[in-house]
Amino acid sequence: MKIYNTLTKSVDEFVPNEPGKVKMYTCGPTVYHFAHIGNLRSYIMEDVLEKTFGYLGYDVKRVMNITDVGHLSSDADTGEDKMVKGAKREHKTVMQIAQFYTDAFFSDCKKLNIKKPEVVDPATNCIDRIIDTVQGLMDKGFAYKAGENVYFDTSKLAQYYVLSDQNEDALKVGVREDVEEDTNKRNKTDFVLWFTKSKFENQALKWDSPWGVGYPGWHIECSCISMKHLGDSMDIHCGGVDNIFPHHTNEIAQSEAFLGHKWCNYWFHVHHLNDKSGKMSKSKGDFLTVSLLEEKGYSPLAYRLFCLQSHYRKPLEFSYEVLDSMQATYQKLLRRVSNLAEEGSVDQATFDAINQKFMDAIGNDLNTAMAVTCVYDALSADTNDATKLALIQSFDKVLSLDLCSMREAKKASTAAGASSATVGICTDGTDVSDPDLAKNVEEKIVERKNAKKEKNFALADQIRAELLADGIVIEDTREGVKWRRA
Ligand code: AMP
Ligand code: ZN
Repeated sequence: MKIYNTLTKSVDEFVPNEPGKVKMYTCGPTVYHFAHIGNLRSYIMEDVLEKTFGYLGYDVKRVMNITDVGHLSSDADTGEDKMVKGAKREHKTVMQIAQFYTDAFFSDCKKLNIKKPEVVDPATNCIDRIIDTVQGLMDKGFAYKAGENVYFDTSKLAQYYVLSDQNEDALKVGVREDVEEDTNKRNKTDFVLWFTKSKFENQALKWDSPWGVGYPGWHIECSCISMKHLGDSMDIHCGGVDNIFPHHTNEIAQSEAFLGHKWCNYWFHVHHLNDKSGKMSKSKGDFLTVSLLEEKGYSPLAYRLFCLQSHYRKPLEFSYEVLDSMQATYQKLLRRVSNLAEEGSVDQATFDAINQKFMDAIGNDLNTAMAVTCVYDALSADTNDATKLALIQSFDKVLSLDLCSMREAKKASTAAGASSATVGICTDGTDVSDPDLAKNVEEKIVERKNAKKEKNFALADQIRAELLADGIVIEDTREGVKWRRA
């Protein structure tokens, strides 16, 4: 497998530390608000990465942190703690906010078929380890105390900018007018490992430490949580491109200073989802969520398809026009899969040839657009439906678009009592004699049932309205869905 590595700035052959095993770490959400669909673009692509490793035969252990303390409103260690800000906004405690938005995050992930990582650990669960690591950095001379805080001393490193091409002038803290310079720092790029109450008197979450009562800086949690679950080295570390600096740069600095050796070999970064006004961000307040898309009638998996159709290393611009066409493409694709017959047996040679194309696509720096094309190749291949279906089911282990959902819903409603040929009951006998019309209406009825099953009532209503616009009325009755001409 080949993957772009931010550390080497090239597409490299992936070679794990231990053959056949992948240790993977993902920077998790800061749980002070709902995740926006930009955040979720990163998690969709990381999910594809994890599933690609699995598809290619690796055994993956993936760990994710939950940032529930210590991430200040500016990445430059200034401003208010994001969690405290969220708690104030909603008149709740920080832990209530953390629990609520952690649950909301995983509920969004579920709708997008993003697998929950094997290990999920909140920062507040790792404070002892964080204190030990900060103490270790103090003992080794990489950290100092100033103004009641503990800072990492970046001047002690042979090389600080290993991930980014940044130079100090460009990054000068204090250059932006709204960022106040922290005069405690010995070097501009130093960062906080531990804050004490001297800086934030009213901090709700605080712990005793050798340097006073306080709480950790943002970056240290990821080093500690990964070492806790993955040991002293890992294969691949993921996040959005905004994490490259300062977050991942600082993670490398403190981890390698603490361990005394290289920590992580591959760095995977997903480019941003932008809207017309620029990067989508939580701090802007007004942002797009999965629930909002659902309210507007979009299937979350149409958004997943939208993400898969572009390469993760390119910025992606969101617009409703593109999502509209993606939703139509998605429904059409489900319909094509639902029309495959259940007959014949798998032709192994054809399966292997198309499957190889799929593996080449995903194994080539996650070429997901090409991987989606393989679904169409399978559908139009010169082979029987059993082979097509087997290929599509297999590809869906990575794409996770529920490509067989309409097909399964159709089968289920058939089994539930409608006649073997139909899923809706036509109450106007003359229309049954028009097979194209009947087929079209039945497909829409299945789509609507699917939408209702996913609690996507807006989409269900939209389908009913579309049918009405085509002159077809549908009614939900005890015997099933009935339809007739308006
Ligand atoms: P946060 O909850 O702010 O810590 O961010 C969670 C993840 O989303 C991180 O990996 C970020 O790098 C990523 N992220 C933030 N904004 C965007 C965006 N507009 N597009 C893609 N990923 C993003
Ligand atoms: Zn992190």
